[in-house]
Amino acid sequence: MNDLLFFFLENMALIIALMYLALKLKETLLVEWKSSTQFLWLSSAFFSFLSFSVMHNPFIHEGMRLDLREVPIFFISYIGGWPLGILSAIVPGIFRASVGGPTVVEGILQSLILPIVIGALFREKVPFNHLFIIINIKRMLTGFVVFEFIKSIWMIATTPATLFIVAAMFFFAGIAVLAMSLILNGENRNLILRRELEFYSNQDPMTHLPNIRFFKNKVGAFVDDKQPLSIAMVDVDYFKVYNDTHGHQKGDQVLRTIGQLLIDSTSDSDVVARYGGEEFIICFTGEADPEKIFAMADKVRQNIESHRFEGEELQPGGIVSVSVGLSFSDGTRSLDQLTKEADKALYQSKNKGRNCVTLYEQKNENLQPLNG
Ligand code: GH3
Ligand code: MG
Ligand code: MG
Repeated sequence: MNDLLFFFLENMALIIALMYLALKLKETLLVEWKSSTQFLWLSSAFFSFLSFSVMHNPFIHEGMRLDLREVPIFFISYIGGWPLGILSAIVPGIFRASVGGPTVVEGILQSLILPIVIGALFREKVPFNHLFIIINIKRMLTGFVVFEFIKSIWMIATTPATLFIVAAMFFFAGIAVLAMSLILNGENRNLILRRELEFYSNQDPMTHLPNIRFFKNKVGAFVDDKQPLSIAMVDVDYFKVYNDTHGHQKGDQVLRTIGQLLIDSTSDSDVVARYGGEEFIICFTGEADPEKIFAMADKVRQNIESHRFEGEELQPGGIVSVSVGLSFSDGTRSLDQLTKEADKALYQSKNKGRNCVTLYEQKNENLQPLNG
């Protein structure tokens, strides 16, 4: 009897330990996974292996092979439905059939087919991302108890298994499946939290543009790579007037619209962020010709000039516009330097009368205002 208990305990521990290791591996590999389909294939391979590994060295009782193979199969069927359950049960099924014995058919039906059917029946029918699923533990346990109950009665009726054996299996399998769900939920909650934290710490909550923290990290990497790039500081003209005339909320709406116009006026490889207040910053990449960069920045300015903002007729000049300061690096300047230069150029644009772009000329360290 002790042997039997120890055996189930060992099976249970193996399942829990492998589950934990697999989830840690998932965490490490997560960045590489583009689709959850790939993850589903890997999951069924893993649960197949898990089921197979507990079957490999079973407790033999009157020719019966006893093990907790049903636990991983139930679990994957509950998470992913019957197709994944079947996929995961193929190898254990073939293995069970190949070793034979007096209860081979019962062994396959009761511990491989039945958990697929009941697991899939109880599966939560809500759309979810497999990579970050949070299991409803109460529902899963209900399904598992229903499955174990049917299996236990079926086993007692059709195999030499005793009441003690099926009760012990019920108990250890229950703990294993509960531990698997707790580990999975804990791990996935951490991943979700980490993603949310990453997302919100890189985003400006008002405009939903990336924030300056994100900008510095991203563009800092381009600078480290010595890529040619240019920085544009974009400042809304007479924005205080707009706020005073229409109120802060309307002002916020203008900032959100300008954010969207900046995104629409730049390419996917450029980086746009809210610098702070009514200032934005853009990093243009992939262009080494200052004249072309100037034209790109001026296109951004023109798009804002030609957009019709609510109540803009009351602004000085009758429109909402932006002034832009531009600095350029052939791969030799630091981000700090570039930002300072763009700021100086922006100041010149303001002095020139606003609604224009100024390129900072580094050769002779003077500024060359160019009207937009
Ligand atoms: P200039 O053309 O010289 O840039 O004039 P300006 O009025 O835009 O410049 P100033 O720096 O005097 O004013 C900036 C204004 O931007 C003042 C501030 O209330 C407003 N502002 C900064 N952040 C926000 C924001 O998040 N929402 C709103 N609605 N206004 C903001
Ligand atoms: Mg400003
Ligand atoms: Mg301003």
